[in-house]
Amino acid sequence: MEYRRKKGSEMWHFCKNCPNWPFEDFDVRLTKPDDEKIDPECLSRENSNKCKKQKLK
Ligand SMILES: [Zn+2]
Repeated sequence: MEYRRKKGSEMWHFCKNCPNWPFEDFDVRLTKPDDEKIDPECLSRENSNKCKKQKLK
């Protein structure tokens, strides 16, 4: 799974339909960040099955 973080931000996003999903100027990682560094909006989407995850190629 792909995680993205806007440069200058502490929060990692993993739902590509998150309103704050970064499209430019972001860092990428493929391993899970610390829980407290994961966007609560993404977690809430995950919990309600509304999270569209980035498929790895
Ligand atoms: Zn998010």
